[in-house]
Parts: sequence; C-alpha cells; structure tokens
Amino acid sequence: MSETVNENVKETLGFQAEVKQLLQLMIHSLYSHKEIFLRELISNASDACDKLRFEALTDAALFEADSELKIKVSVDKDAKTITLRDNGIGMSRQEVIEHIGTIAKSGTREFFGKLTGDQKKDAQLIGQFGVGFYSSFIVADRVTLTTRRAGLTQEHGVRWESAGEGDYTLETVEMAERGTEIVLHMKDDEAEFLDAWRLKSVIREYSDHIAIPVEFINDKAEDEKDKVETVNRANALWTRAKNDITEDEYKAFYKHVGHDYEDPLAWTHVKVEGRQDYTALLYVPAHAPFDLWDRDAKAGVKLYVKRVFIMEDARKLMPSYLRFIRGVIDAADLPLNVSREILQETRDMEMIRGGCVRKVLDLLDDLAENRKEDYAKVWEHFGRVLKEGVGEDQGNKERIAKLLRFRTTTVDEETVTLADYVGRMKEGQDKIYYLTAETLAAAKASPHLEALRNKGVEVILLADRVDEWLVGNLFEFDGKSLASVAKGQVDLAAIKSAEGDEPEAEAPKAEEAAPLLERIKAALGERAKDVRASNRLVESPACLVADEGDLNGNLARMLKSMGQAVPESTPILEVNLSHALIKRLEAESLASDAGARFDELAGLLMDQAVLLDGGQLADPAGFVKRVNGLLFG
Ligand code: ADP
Repeated sequence: MSETVNENVKETLGFQAEVKQLLQLMIHSLYSHKEIFLRELISNASDACDKLRFEALTDAALFEADSELKIKVSVDKDAKTITLRDNGIGMSRQEVIEHIGTIAKSGTREFFGKLTGDQKKDAQLIGQFGVGFYSSFIVADRVTLTTRRAGLTQEHGVRWESAGEGDYTLETVEMAERGTEIVLHMKDDEAEFLDAWRLKSVIREYSDHIAIPVEFINDKAEDEKDKVETVNRANALWTRAKNDITEDEYKAFYKHVGHDYEDPLAWTHVKVEGRQDYTALLYVPAHAPFDLWDRDAKAGVKLYVKRVFIMEDARKLMPSYLRFIRGVIDAADLPLNVSREILQETRDMEMIRGGCVRKVLDLLDDLAENRKEDYAKVWEHFGRVLKEGVGEDQGNKERIAKLLRFRTTTVDEETVTLADYVGRMKEGQDKIYYLTAETLAAAKASPHLEALRNKGVEVILLADRVDEWLVGNLFEFDGKSLASVAKGQVDLAAIKSAEGDEPEAEAPKAEEAAPLLERIKAALGERAKDVRASNRLVESPACLVADEGDLNGNLARMLKSMGQAVPESTPILEVNLSHALIKRLEAESLASDAGARFDELAGLLMDQAVLLDGGQLADPAGFVKRVNGLLFG
C-alpha cells in the first residue's frame, strides 16, 4: 500500500463503493436524527484522546508538552461552520486513507447485503452498523478534516476534504498542534446548529458522561471568562455514585460506548472491592449488532485502569458467549504501564473477568425472573450466542442452562425452560428428550417423535446450528440426563400413558420378526449398521437411528458443510413391525420369487428413512426408478 501514499501533492481519491452507498443512505434515512453527528464526532474525539493517553504511558514525548486532553467546539455564524478540535492521537496520511474514505469494519459486505431499500428498515440497520464520521454529511455539504498523528513532526499534517459525493482530496499540510480538527460547512437549512445555545445543549446531552472536557469557545465574547465554557461534567460516568446517575445518563453513555442509537435493554453498575478493586458498567443491548456472527467483530467492552483507557477487546474481557455485552471495566489495581498482552494473561485480569461474567449472569437472571418480556428480547437476539456458553464456560454451565429457552412438541414458542420441562415430565420418565434437525419443520415432522407423542411425552425441538454443540456439552439438568430421540434405544415402557393417550398397538414380537430383520439387513448390505424393531414409530414404516457412540446424521452433515473431516458412521435402520408396508415385506419374503423384489422394497424403505432424516440419497436416480417401478409395475 505504501507506494500509493503520495506525500506532497494534493490528490483526489475516490470513495470505496460502500462509502458512497452509506453516505447516500445515511443522508436520507437519518435525517430525523440529524443531531447524532455531534455524538459521533465527539465520541471519536474522546476515543482519540483515550488512545493518546494510552500510548503516552510508554512514550510521554507524545504529549508534546500538552497533556491536558480536551475537545474544543466553536461556531462561525458568518462562515456557517462548526469546528471540532481534539488534541488526541491524530492520524497519519495512511491512516486517513484507511479510516476516512474506506469502511474497514469487518462484516461490511454482509451488512450491505442486508439493506432492503426500504428506508425505515435500513435506518434501523444503519443504527446497528454505526455511522461514525460520515454522519457529518447529514448536516454539512462539505467537511474539512485536518489532522496530525502524535509523534510525527509539524510538516506531516494531512488535510482531507470532501463534499460527501464521489471523492475526496488529500494534501499534506503544516499543523502546529497534534490531533484532529474537523470543520463542518453546514448546509443552508441546518442553521439551527449554528445557534450557540442549541449546539451547547446537544453537546451536553451527548458528552456529559465522557471523561474528556468539551469546551465551547467563543472568541467574540466581551468578557474574558466567557470565552471558554466547559459544557460537560467531564468525569467518567462509571466513577460517579449510582444514585447520582439518572436513567437518561446511563442510556446516553451506552450510546457512546455501544455505538448504538437505540436505548439498551438493561445494565449493571457495580463497584467491587476485594483482592481486586474494580468498577464495571455493563449493558445488554436491545438488538444484535450487525457483526454478532463475525469472527473479527469489534469489541464491546473497554478496559480502563484508573480511568485510563487500556484496550478494547471483547474476547479478553468477556467470553465469546457474552460478546454482545457492551460497557466498561475500570480496574484500580492493575499496573498502568504493562503491555496489553501481559495484561490479558494476569490472574488478576482473570479474576475481574470472572467477576464481571457473574454480574452479567445475575443481570440476565434478573431479567428472566422479573422482566420476562425483556428477557424474551434477549433470547430472540442473543439466545443462539448464549447457547455457546454451555460448552465454553464449564464453571457457569448450570447457570447458563437455566437461562436457555426452548421450543418443544407441546409449546410452539421458544419459552420453555429446562425446569419447566422437568416439572412436566411423565410418571416414569427419567430423561429429558430432545431432537435435533436441520429445520424446525423437519424436526416437527420427524418419525422419531411418533411414539413419544402418543404417550404424551414432551420433546425439545432443536434446529439451530449451535444446538448440536449445546447437547454435546449439556449432559444433564437437575439430575435428569438429556437423551436424543434419534439415538440409541428409547425405552418408553416405564412411562405411564396418561388417560386419553392413544392405546399402544400390539406390535409383533421382535424375536418372531428376527428372520425378516435379518433379511432386510442382508438386502441393505453396507447401508445399515443394523436393522432392528422400533418402539418409537407409530405412523412411519421406518427411521434412521444413530448408534450410541456415533454422530447423528444432522451433526455429521453440519460438520461436513463446515469442511471438517467426519468419521463415517453407518446408521441403524429401525422398522415399525406394525406397519402395513413391513407386513407386506414379510409376505414378500415368503413368496417364491422373493429375491430381487424384496431387495427393491427394502432399498426403498431405507431411502425413505434417509430422506426423513434430512439426508441425501447417494443414488437419487435409482430411487426414482424404484418408485416408478412400483407405481407402474
Ligand atoms: P468508528 O468510530 O465506528 O470506527 P468512524 O467512521 O467514526 O468509525 O471512524 C473511523 C476511524 O477513523 C476511527 O476508528 C479512528 O481510527 C479514525 N478517527 C475518526 N475520528 C478521529 C479523530 N478525531 N482522531 C483520530 N482518529 C479518528
């Protein structure tokens, strides 16, 4: 890339296609929230100051004798401009090209793929994406950004300018002070923001909670003392006493740390004293961020040490299954001048992380218990992520299991807890039954449910990708083991049928059927590990079952689709001895010219079972031929 950085000339560069699209969309869809540009720019300036303070921990020269970090705002009514200036980290020419003019966010392409063209829906999405610096163009028809990276000399300033259409210009300029200055040339109809009083009130709303002072500069003031007015409180919100913070302040701070423009669903603010003193302010968002499923997603929780920003890395501060949590952790006793790498490995950091995870679980418990509607939203947006926790966080496995919500054969909404399930178990039932399938529809229609349904036994239906991982890690709940209805043997004999349940059909004895089962097995050859009589079927003639230690079909297909090597395991074919088709097979086996025709029918039986299991036939053409042979033969 470096050869594209042209140090001395003024050059015109084109925006990345996505930026153009974003600009267009933003200008149109965020028009009713236009004041957010101030929040975004002040947020960026505050982050830039945080970054400088952190880098200066190891290189104090970066302060250039100017260590009072602040943001200054001024207006010029005649020129119709608003100017924001910070003395934070600044940007080099290369950084300007990378950060302003391209969208480096991971998941960008996926995000743009989701846009619908419907302005209302897209406005929602764009809020999740975080519009950042580009929001300037909602109110400005030209933006000039001048910046110098801390540590570079004065002649390495960079000026970036754009009208927010197709391109921008870039030139190298002298800049005496490090940091970033942004001049917004306001559109004619955005004069309201040029009004000092209006501007200050918006700034206050968006910046009261950030730790860096925001000063309003009025050079024309008569009185010297009115020339500089600090607009915000400039103390970090989380350091204040809880009862001194209003709901609105908590929400405003969330929008800053969460890069979200919707209110959060809930938060927890704790000061912990003990072996490690720390303060945590952690939020549960009301919706999933656009990059929830992106491996390189930006972090959600920031670490501060004694109010100095240290790092932003959700994966280290929060486990992956809580990656949707936003907020700050401020540790009092960690060394300030340690590298991020070392910090991540200290036991102290582990303790803080563990404590914060417990606080988040407490918060979720509280929502699940006392604010059910809100918990339903948490589940809707983050349920699939929380499920990962059962395998990821052994220490909190039981607590996470209680937070899970399921759909079952009797409740068609994802609201059933494992405790609900256990409370409803039939007399004589000692297992929690579940079924995994590729889709909910496939799960509901699965033959494996037939006998259980007849007995009135509830079965948990699982159709998320993560569910196989979930049941691979959750073996029991409340002393009851979890059992797949598509695996191993099911023994329903001990479960009492309730009144009104279907009476059980008299199935022919398995021993009597042994020759038939042997015969089918011989006909199927390699395709089936075994053929046995089923006690889980009622309407269907046959189904596939995975042997106790084997992978089930759904999991095997899932792993394969993820490119993993999967040990080949052959399924067991279970047949319903009461079914007319099986009876017909039996009759066929007694006929004198049995051979080929029996084999055909047995093959078809197997094909059906494979299809019902959600699998694919190795020989679809053969299947069609066999069916047609039967239809027209
Ligand atoms: P976001 O803040 O969500 O990353 P932005 O578009 O607002 O997105 O900013 C993109 C990047 O530009 C920031 O991550 C930061 O690296 C850089 N940047 C923006 N404003 C400033 C500033 N005032 N000082 C230094 N860097 C900045």
